[in-house]
Amino acid sequence: MLIAEGIGVAGGLACGVAYRPSTRRQAAVSIEHVYSTAKRRYERWSEDSSLPAAARELAHIYLALLTDPELRASIEGDVALGRTISEAITGACEQQARLLDGARHPYLQQRAHDLRALARELLALKDDAGQGGILLADTLTPLGLYEAYGGGAQGIILRDSLASTSHLAILARTIGLPLVAGVTVDVLAWQGRFVSIDGSSGQIWAGERDIALQAVVHTSYPLWLNAASSRNIATAQGYKGVGLFRTEFLYLQCGGVPAPEHEEEQYVAAVKAAAGKHIIFRLLDLGSDKPIAGLTREKEPNPMLGERGVRVLLRRRDILEQQIRALLAASAYGPLSIMVPMVVTPGEMAAVRNVQRELGASHLSLGAMLETPAALLMAKELGEVSDFFSLGTNDLAAYVYASDRGTDMHLPDNAEAMFRLMDIAVQAAKAQGREVGVCGELAADPRYAARFLDLGCDYLSMVAAAFPGVGKALRGRN
Ligand code: PEP
Ligand code: MG
Repeated sequence: MLIAEGIGVAGGLACGVAYRPSTRRQAAVSIEHVYSTAKRRYERWSEDSSLPAAARELAHIYLALLTDPELRASIEGDVALGRTISEAITGACEQQARLLDGARHPYLQQRAHDLRALARELLALKDDAGQGGILLADTLTPLGLYEAYGGGAQGIILRDSLASTSHLAILARTIGLPLVAGVTVDVLAWQGRFVSIDGSSGQIWAGERDIALQAVVHTSYPLWLNAASSRNIATAQGYKGVGLFRTEFLYLQCGGVPAPEHEEEQYVAAVKAAAGKHIIFRLLDLGSDKPIAGLTREKEPNPMLGERGVRVLLRRRDILEQQIRALLAASAYGPLSIMVPMVVTPGEMAAVRNVQRELGASHLSLGAMLETPAALLMAKELGEVSDFFSLGTNDLAAYVYASDRGTDMHLPDNAEAMFRLMDIAVQAAKAQGREVGVCGELAADPRYAARFLDLGCDYLSMVAAAFPGVGKALRGRN
């Protein structure tokens, strides 16, 4: 039953017990929920062509075991007798596995092994489900979003309304956390109820909805991925490379500077998840609406025009060095390059290059985000100290139109002023043989996809959920 409608801010479907942060641990976990979560997971794996054939085969085996009515009846029967879900899962799987242990045929012996493995999987999912659910909040900061994500939230319902270009919305989309905002009814009343949300349409239902799997697009178009964690990369399909890896995710998650070993581990995991596809890691982009106490300036009169991106990094050389060291270590596992946020002058790129050189990392290609009008106008000079560029249309639109990115701005005249400026930058970049990508939200807007490619941009980088729409808009194009 549809119970409310808000604004769909970050697409995707999610379901779970609705909770306020402090009540999450009391969330009820049903066998039905564990089963349907497992089923969705194995269905996705079984169709994921980026996984090895053996992994897909295993997913098929688990699916077959899951649909065995006897196993399910046995688990439900045990729960009815007063056992916990964990005891019931382990007991029922073990009972069936023992019957097969004695079998002579290696195929049946293998099924006993699979049954025990499935029990372990279901127990892990049960624990995840216990921590998951749909977070109910009046308002949320980027830090709060990461806490919710780290705590296993499956989706978010907010009372506040939210612009689609606000960082909170972008971050929710990037990490793949469905988010419905602007829900004016009293969301607190749903606490403890099982709800489903659709982060695209903004609809909220009571109970579990059948969650359709997103169609995978395998397109020949240069669609790259925006990601914030190795999990995003591991679950995405059909992308050519990662055009924007937001390293601020890790810092926001840690609420400060992570331990160097932890940072390195995260980047290595991302590179491994990309399995040979190129990743562009963007250096820490803090400031404005992504503050972290102790790292960014407090009480700036206008944070949007304050100390952001590379300006923070050049003040905090320790962080810049830690990031470059971690990326250097990660580069041993696969191809990557480094991108600098909020560049205004060639001098800033040269300063980062110097640090790179001092750390013995100059062989890693270094690019500049083009997201301030000054950077676009100086693209020729920037090209002398940069190996590639990426257009950051979110900040660029705000600076070009003197319009807050936190409000859903309407781009005047089909963004003509922005495109003229971008044309200057792309021409200058191309004259020097520099690649130019687009990683702002406009890249994910089907209305502009062809225009960017006509301009000479080499790829469009976006969250995986935007692939079908952009792929469709480009259909028929050579
Ligand atoms: C941009 O500004 O377009 C961009 C990609 O960076 P962010 O949204 O993180 O500021
Ligand atoms: Mg930006």
